[in-house]
Amino acid sequence: MSEECIFCKIARKEIEIEVIFESDNFVAFPDANPCSKGHTLIIPKKHFVNYLDLPAVLGSELLDVIKKVAEIQLREGAEGFNIIVNNGKEAGQVVMHSHTHLIPRRKGEKARVSFPCAN
Ligand SMILES: [Zn+2]
Repeated sequence: MSEECIFCKIARKEIEIEVIFESDNFVAFPDANPCSKGHTLIIPKKHFVNYLDLPAVLGSELLDVIKKVAEIQLREGAEGFNIIVNNGKEAGQVVMHSHTHLIPRRKGEKARVSFPCAN
């Protein structure tokens, strides 16, 4: 675990955040630079660099947390959501502590993510 890792500090509650949902091994909180209203990050409480580093045994708990957060987003008016995971710097990962983006989507609302890919 890195002393300087901002997500480790958040997991240890050394930085005050709004906890959206929490399980034994994961915590969900608002993205500081949201792509849409309600954009949430889910992080493991232990330091893992990316999905390759994340133990598969935590997979079902992570999926459960994803569903819980998505249910909250849908209750708050989202009609869909994107799950985005950037693994590695070249894929756009900025904080090297594994995190899953849940980006709620609403009809007519612009978000900085767009599918299908326009290239
Ligand atoms: Zn960390």
